[in-house]
Amino acid sequence: MSGIKLYDKTFQLFLRSEFIQQTVKKMADRITLDLKDQNPVFISVLNGAFIFTADLMRHLHFNCHVSFVKLSTYRNDSSTGTYKELIGLNEDITGRTVVITEDIIDTGATITFILEKIKKNNPAEIRTAALFLKPEACRTDIHADYIGLEVPNDFIVGYGLDYNGLGRNFKDVYKIEN
Ligand code: 5GP
Ligand code: MG
Repeated sequence: MSGIKLYDKTFQLFLRSEFIQQTVKKMADRITLDLKDQNPVFISVLNGAFIFTADLMRHLHFNCHVSFVKLSTYRNDSSTGTYKELIGLNEDITGRTVVITEDIIDTGATITFILEKIKKNNPAEIRTAALFLKPEACRTDIHADYIGLEVPNDFIVGYGLDYNGLGRNFKDVYKIEN
């Protein structure tokens, strides 16, 4: 498919599935070299990272655990701000090597928040694996160990990434048409 329509927006084909799969395989190879003897815990950030995490795991042929977390976002009554909480971290990660798997790092605010929360659970080490990184949007101090691809500062959907809930199911990645 060369383009898709989600609600009122049109998106053009940006990255084909075959290329994304090669990228994920390369990330898995690097992770294998680094962590194959450490029985790491992969912590996948829902919803966006579910497809990336599933594909990544299938390339890892060593012992590891996988768990899923989600961020809840809510506003307080005086609407002075949005608060987030990490929900679902019920694995004991004390002394373990943790790899956070994210779909995309944009400004880096989300991954920074998650890192801070996970640190409080006393893991031995935390690494991050993000399929996509937007260098133009991202703060320079972001801690990212495994990056699949750097992408331009455009809104993308597909392969787990959504536009208001739609588009996660497409195997290719699409870029918004301006
Ligand atoms: P950050 O906190 O790094 O600015 O943003 C990270 C989160 O914003 C990602 O986990 C993702 O949910 C969302 N996001 C950032 N850029 C995009 C994008 O281009 N497309 C979609 N669908 N979501 C994005
Ligand atoms: Mg996300």
